[in-house]
Amino acid sequence: MSERVFNFSSGPAVLPLPVLEQAQRDLLALPGVGMSVLEISHRSKPFDEILATTDANLRKLLGIPENYRVLFFQGGAALQFSMIPMNLLRDSGRTAEYLVTGSWGKKAKQEAALEGPVRAVWDGADTAYNRLPRPDELKLSPDAAYLHVTSNETIQGVQMSTDPRQAGVAPPADVPLICDSSSDILSRTVPIADYGMVYACAQKNAGPAGVTAVIIRDDLVQRSPKSLPGILSYQAFAENDSRYNTPCVFGIYIVMLVTRWLLEEVGGLEKMAAQNAAKARLLYDVLDASDGFYRGHAEPSCRSLMNVTFRLPSDDLEKRFLKAAEAQQLFQLKGHRSVGGIRASIYNAMPREGVERLAAVMRDFQKQSG
Ligand code: PMP
Repeated sequence: MSERVFNFSSGPAVLPLPVLEQAQRDLLALPGVGMSVLEISHRSKPFDEILATTDANLRKLLGIPENYRVLFFQGGAALQFSMIPMNLLRDSGRTAEYLVTGSWGKKAKQEAALEGPVRAVWDGADTAYNRLPRPDELKLSPDAAYLHVTSNETIQGVQMSTDPRQAGVAPPADVPLICDSSSDILSRTVPIADYGMVYACAQKNAGPAGVTAVIIRDDLVQRSPKSLPGILSYQAFAENDSRYNTPCVFGIYIVMLVTRWLLEEVGGLEKMAAQNAAKARLLYDVLDASDGFYRGHAEPSCRSLMNVTFRLPSDDLEKRFLKAAEAQQLFQLKGHRSVGGIRASIYNAMPREGVERLAAVMRDFQKQSG
C-alpha cells in the first residue's frame, strides 16, 4: 500500500485504510458465506445482518432515538433535494423554508421550488456565502412545512453548529428541522432529537458513492402522499426496510465497515470530533499566520472543520501551489470550479500526517514565494 497518496478530495473521498483492507480481504468471499458481498441477494441472511449491523452502528454512534428510522437510498443527496418536498411539502398547503448558506443549500431550495412554494429565510449570496446568519437575522414562520439547513457547505467551507438553538435555527414547534449533513455526518455528535430528519450521501465521511442515509422521525415517514411512486416515498422505504427495490448492497456494506471503524478503532464521535478539530486547526493556524498570503474564504466564526477553503494572491501562484503539493504526494486540492482557489477536504479518514504535511508545504511555499 506504500503508493497511496494523501487524497484531499471533497468526495468521493478518502476512506479509512483498515476499511479498504477488510473489503479487499473479504471481496472474494464474505467470511462464513463463501460468496462475495457483490454476489449476495439483498434479501439474503448475510445482507439482513449487514443492514441490521449498519443500522445499529449508526444508532450507537449518533444516539439515534427509537422513534427515528434509518433508511438507505440511491440517487445521492440530490435525490433527497426532490424527495423532501415531494414527501413533506406536496399537498400540505404550506411553504417550505430554506436557509441558503452556500451552493448546496441553494440547489436544495431550487429543486424544492419545482414541487411547491418555498421561501429563503436567509441567503448568503451577497457575501459569496462566506458566513452564516446571526440568529437575529432569521425570522422563522410557525407554520412552515419544514425548515431545511445545510450543516456544512462543502464548496464554500462554511459549517454551522449542530445545536439548532446555538445556530439560531431552532424552528417553532411543529416545524420539522431538516439537515443536509452530507459533508459532515459522523464527524461530530449531533442531537438527532432536535431534528425531524438528517440525511447524507455517503461518499465523504461514511462510505462510497451510491448510498445515502436518511434518519427520519416516525411521524414524518407517515406523511408521504399516497400518490407518490414507491421509489420516491419515505413510507414505502420504511415499510420495506430500505428494500423497496434492490439497494446499494456494496455501499451499505462499506458504511457498515466505516461505522465499525469509528466505534472500535476511533472510539466514537467525540473522539473523532477532537481529532477533526485538531487537524483543522493545523491549517487555519497557517492561514492566520500568513499575513494575508493565504486568504480563507469563510469568516473565522463559521470555518468548516471538513473543507478548508482559501485563495493565494494570484491564479498563477495557486497553480504553482498545487504542483508543489503534488510533489509531496498531496492530491485533489483544487477548489470547486465555481469558486476557484484551494480546498483541502480533511474528512474523518484523512490521517493527521497528511494535514501536517500540507501545513508544512503551505509554510514552505509562502517562504519561497513571499
Ligand atoms: N449536499 C452536500 C452538502 C454535498 O456536499 C453534496 C455533494 N458534494 C450534495 C449535497 C450532493 O450529493 P450527491 O452528488 O450525492 O447527490
